[in-house]
Amino acid sequence: MAKETKQIIRRREPGYRSVTERLKDFDEVERCLSDDELVLQASRCMSCGTPFCHAYACPLANVIPETNELVANGRWKEALKLLLSTHPFPEFTARICPALCEGSCVLGINEEAVSIRHIEKAIIEKGFEKGWIKPRPLVKKHREKVAVIGSGPSGLAAAEILNQKGYEVTVYDKALSPGGLLMYGIPNFKLNKQIIWRRINLMKEEGVIFEGGIAVGEDISFNYLKRHFAAILLAGGAEEPRDLIIPGRNLKGIHFALDLLKAQNKRILGEPLTAEEDINATGKNVVVIGGGDTGSDCIGTAIRQGAKAIYQMEIMPRAPEKRGEGNAWPLWPVVDRVSSSHQEGGTRHWSVATKEFSGNQSNEVVKVHCCEVDWVEEDGSLTPQRIDNTDFALAADLVLLSLGFSGPGPNPLADAIGLARDERGNILVDDRHLTSVDGIFCAGDIARGQSLVVRAMADGVQAAADIDKFLR
Ligand SMILES: Cc1cc2nc3c(=O)[nH]c(=O)nc-3n(C[C@H](O)[C@H](O)[C@H](O)COP(=O)(O)OP(=O)(O)OC[C@H]3O[C@@H](n4cnc5c(N)ncnc54)[C@H](O)[C@@H]3O)c2cc1C
Repeated sequence: MAKETKQIIRRREPGYRSVTERLKDFDEVERCLSDDELVLQASRCMSCGTPFCHAYACPLANVIPETNELVANGRWKEALKLLLSTHPFPEFTARICPALCEGSCVLGINEEAVSIRHIEKAIIEKGFEKGWIKPRPLVKKHREKVAVIGSGPSGLAAAEILNQKGYEVTVYDKALSPGGLLMYGIPNFKLNKQIIWRRINLMKEEGVIFEGGIAVGEDISFNYLKRHFAAILLAGGAEEPRDLIIPGRNLKGIHFALDLLKAQNKRILGEPLTAEEDINATGKNVVVIGGGDTGSDCIGTAIRQGAKAIYQMEIMPRAPEKRGEGNAWPLWPVVDRVSSSHQEGGTRHWSVATKEFSGNQSNEVVKVHCCEVDWVEEDGSLTPQRIDNTDFALAADLVLLSLGFSGPGPNPLADAIGLARDERGNILVDDRHLTSVDGIFCAGDIARGQSLVVRAMADGVQAAADIDKFLR
């Protein structure tokens, strides 16, 4: 009898452009797998009876096993239809989502997870390439108009859904270009700005009105909005960066991480920079404080700008290579991650506290003073304790504080009308995304705190459904 041989299909990564090539530009670094390879990769999906990727992990509840099955059978157009039934903008998450779905993929228990993000990217890009995605003739069937304040992923998602439902939607943003942190925060080498413009242009063609360069609460008032719109969605993001209040903080050359990223994105967009905004790392010793993704975005940006040396300091210890105790599947795996920017250069330090900045006579930062820390359990929680005789200093001309965001901070509209806030300073909403003032809704980071693009979009989609219910 002939022996049956089974071919095991392993996960394959598309990888990145070579470091030497990609450091010459700010273009996207990640490659794509071929269609044939993607069909094979999709066939790794086990069509689980209880798909954790879909029901547990994905905030948008993408119907992942069914979509993968369609791709595995080469039925791309149907896969696109199914993907778009839950997800307004897969082209964004397909590039920059950490892929919560893959963290809880059942195959991931014994094998590497299914390449859900890469498959999603191929589906949506094929949709655009083949002309399957084009402006739809949408009818404005409702007389009520809706204002969306903030054009980040949450505001865009809400505008898209409300427009589809037949409302006239105007999206206001204080920034000149729409997209929020997609446009001004995330570097072009992870998400090319043309991908955002492609979507914005489509939305405009379908009737969404974009008003850039307008700070709501300052340039236009709540009274104006109330007279013109039946409902208002505040989607202003979490804009207040966490500071590091230590001696020397006021020296010149110490900035928030977003300042560097925003300046570079504005250059790419061809937008003007004020003297204060015009920050770059060229020829500088750069110290990034904070070991997260925004810090890693600063490394990739600073390397491309020609920094002399780059250090990234993280107070937490290095995460393990594999899931540790208390981090079992299907939880998001807390493991050490090496980003494309980390592959490009820079030196990373873990378990390090920053004690002080010192400067020269012109009040410019010249050194960052640090020491190593031990994480010690005290009253059931871990606290960092400085280790004696481990002090060291790093030369620094540019320090980037990348410690996350504490919340929305002051917001001219929310403050003018006295919207209630929660104990963390986020705008307080009920389970219908409704704030303490009738007719004003909130979605995204402004209400949930700093999070992820996929969660902001899911919030926007749900808030749009809540606004529709409220108006009908
Ligand atoms: C540098 C950086 C990199 C990131 N990378 C990733 C990543 O790779 N993957 C990921 O999933 N998440 C990432 N995130 C997180 C993600 O970008 C945010 O969670 C997401 O953008 C939040 O969306 P949002 O719509 O709530 O707010 P935002 O994207 O912050 O958009 C808010 C918008 O509101 C506007 N606005 C605020 N107040 C007013 C006003 N009064 N009038 C008019 N307009 C106003 C702002 O100008 C802004 O455009 C990153 C964040 C940062 C800072």
